[in-house]
Amino acid sequence: MARVAVLGAGLGGVIMAYELRDILGPQHEIAVVNKGSKYSFVPSNPWVAVGWRDREAIEADLVPVFAKRDIRLHAQGAARLHPAENRIELTDGTSVAYDYLVVATGPDLAFDEIEGLGPDGHTQSICHVDHALMAKQAFDRLVKAPGPVIIGAAQGASCYGPAYEFAFVLDKALRDAKVRDRVPMTFVTAEPYVGHLGLDGVGDTKTLLESEMRQHHVKWICNAKIDRVEAGRMLVSELTDDGALKTSHELPFAFSMILPAFRGVPAVRGIDGLTNPRGFILADKHQRNPTFRNVFSVGVCVAIPPVGKTAVPVGVPKTGFMIESMVTATAHNIARLIEGREPDAEATWNAVCLADFGDGGVAFVAQPQIPPRNVNWSSSGRWVHAAKIGFERYFLRKIRIGKSEPFYERLALQALGIDKLKAIKIEEEA
Ligand code: FAD
Repeated sequence: MARVAVLGAGLGGVIMAYELRDILGPQHEIAVVNKGSKYSFVPSNPWVAVGWRDREAIEADLVPVFAKRDIRLHAQGAARLHPAENRIELTDGTSVAYDYLVVATGPDLAFDEIEGLGPDGHTQSICHVDHALMAKQAFDRLVKAPGPVIIGAAQGASCYGPAYEFAFVLDKALRDAKVRDRVPMTFVTAEPYVGHLGLDGVGDTKTLLESEMRQHHVKWICNAKIDRVEAGRMLVSELTDDGALKTSHELPFAFSMILPAFRGVPAVRGIDGLTNPRGFILADKHQRNPTFRNVFSVGVCVAIPPVGKTAVPVGVPKTGFMIESMVTATAHNIARLIEGREPDAEATWNAVCLADFGDGGVAFVAQPQIPPRNVNWSSSGRWVHAAKIGFERYFLRKIRIGKSEPFYERLALQALGIDKLKAIKIEEEA
């Protein structure tokens, strides 16, 4: 019997546990260590921040579904990973020992890297449901006392789609509240151009998003480095493409939401051989750590280099489908190791992303996520809003019933020509 542990029960960790249970069968032990016993659907946080969803609507209780699938949950959280000793030290001093580990801890939010940034400073966040609920209170204040708004993503951020999404969702919510005419909006981003998205653009995201920004009266500043945030004032250096100072901006705001840079969580950061200098987990093409060969990683915690040089640091996003692809490869590879064989499955790193604008949206498929690509497609329209609602319902249902991938989902994705695994595709084709 093998003991497999998953550290983190977010988008990647929960489906990791389900896929492991599916592929390993009942004879092996699966334990999940998480901060708390609830799953929270992060992509719905922009809606929480304007009151279109409440906490209950986007959360799932993991206790009954994990019990049903014979997955042990340690909800006290990890204090420190000790990969050389094959154990996770929990916050109550006890430990979970494992034979194989999958790290799925998501991001640590590096607000502290910019003075005044984040919910403890002067800007809002939508990265966590608690932050989104705080942002909702600030949104209510904005509706009562309209003023300038700044939305964007800080230097080093790797998550741009949700920043655009939130700008347009907020625009719609302010229009519904009939105060949009008193709210000048500016989008501040580290990207070298609108629609870069950390991916050097996908299809024509540059034109699509610029056009949407113009139609929604959102001004923008690219190559932006946020120097400092004070109450009601943001100091921003706009750089040229070769990194020289172009303009210094002092932007007043009544409401601001800025996505921070990400780094690895403290429980794993700074472990020699496991993480890169930002604390992201090093992984080979099989999602396996090169030093600790029984440690795998999936999701935002995985180290992926940027797609190219930019004036201001811009990271690569790790979106839902890409994370699912990492999960499927990892489950397959751990099963092979347990059987005494070598890992052979590789994630395809496809990005399938829906950015909702409240009454429309932009969708893109980058296959693979890092150029050059076989599929480089983007489109916009009302259907994207409906599709995003479908994605939320689909995913939360999947989590609540304990299934990693209902059959029809697989069918739909394969019909689109989008596959989760390189290796399995090759086997099927052979
Ligand atoms: P998370 O979902 O963040 O999960 C990490 C888990 O690890 C959490 O449960 C956390 O509590 C736990 N953890 C952390 N530290 C510890 C510890 N010490 N001990 C125990 N547990 C720990 N992608 C899309 O494809 N579509 C979208 O529409 C989309 N929207 C997004 C919107 C926002 C606002 C953001 C921030 C991201 C969005 N993404 C989207 C990107 C990505 O899909 C999500 O960030 C996703 O939640 C990442 O999954 P993850 O499993 O890597 O991390």
